[in-house]
Amino acid sequence: MAKLKGHVLFNIENCKGCELCIKECPQNSLEMSSNINNNGYHYAFLKEDSCTGCTNCALICPEAIITVFRESKKKKIAVPSLNNTDNFLFEVS
Ligand code: SF4
Ligand code: SF4
Repeated sequence: MAKLKGHVLFNIENCKGCELCIKECPQNSLEMSSNINNNGYHYAFLKEDSCTGCTNCALICPEAIITVFRESKKKKIAVPSLNNTDNFLFEVS
């Protein structure tokens, strides 16, 4: 069976740099940026294309700023999780 393909978007301006999402990712797909956001925190971003859309990162994030997508055959669909982020800012690695 083919591996699931996922993607994540972060609202980086609301990241507090706690690194919980980094530790929770089974694919080691996430990394902390050396840059800082407007609040002075280093923020998490998707460093490599190995995300499976498992939602671990979104569920653990205390700020609820991660939205997870899974690719279906026809389009990318958002996976229901604990956030309602509608203003995405993200870093492309
Ligand atoms: S959805 Fe899962 S695999 Fe993808 S970045 Fe988050 S924790 Fe890692
Ligand atoms: S868990 Fe949330 S607040 Fe913490 S580093 Fe990851 S994205 Fe930022």
